[in-house]
Amino acid sequence: MGRGKLAVLSDVHSNLEALRAVLQEVERQKAERVLFLGDAVGYGPEPEECVQLLRQVSEVMIAGNHDWAVVGLTSVEYFNENARRAVEWTELVLSPETKAFLRGLPPSRALPREDILLCHGSPKDPQAWLYILSLEDAERAFYNFEERLCLVGHSHVPFVVEMTGDRNLIVHSGRTRMREGSRYLVNAGSVGQPRDGDPRACLVIIEEDVIEVCRVEYDFRRTQAKILRQGLPEALAERLGYGR
Ligand code: ZN
Repeated sequence: MGRGKLAVLSDVHSNLEALRAVLQEVERQKAERVLFLGDAVGYGPEPEECVQLLRQVSEVMIAGNHDWAVVGLTSVEYFNENARRAVEWTELVLSPETKAFLRGLPPSRALPREDILLCHGSPKDPQAWLYILSLEDAERAFYNFEERLCLVGHSHVPFVVEMTGDRNLIVHSGRTRMREGSRYLVNAGSVGQPRDGDPRACLVIIEEDVIEVCRVEYDFRRTQAKILRQGLPEALAERLGYGR
């Protein structure tokens, strides 16, 4: 398809250790283009550094609900207590320039030449930040995009779902070869706060017709120490050790 080797990153959540480890993997795998699916900030201890690094390396960035929350574009009404505390702290430490940048990010973006749609939540109303948690949610999502490939984040759980030409759904894991006539919905998982029980950072690599979910070890203890040092909620540090 001639789109080059893509690295798809999502939900970094101010975790610079995890982001650096993932970018090393991007380099090791010689991926030429980085696409970022939102939530650069929130939860973690190094929001400014993460946004700046992502801006350097990403070809395309979209917003997540946390990115919009820290600049007042999304209400924190539906955020839990810990998430809200982290949003408030992030608001205090971000530079005005970085806030202006986050404010300008869209919640979805189409790449027509590559036949790809990027969305933080569901393509069904991207600004509503809907989660795709079940096969039913995934099926509904397929009826809200036309592209061959829709890349999402938000739930922090990676998956690859195929919809065949006759509208059957197939769930894949690990490495998936895309077939003619099928469309794909891919969740890139989370770089900085995985929730599928695997604490390793997650990213997706797409080369020609192969989609691969990759995991990368990083020193989560360093991120945990920084979270505590900043006075952020302890639970936000703990969960990194479990991948929950
Ligand atoms: Zn997130």
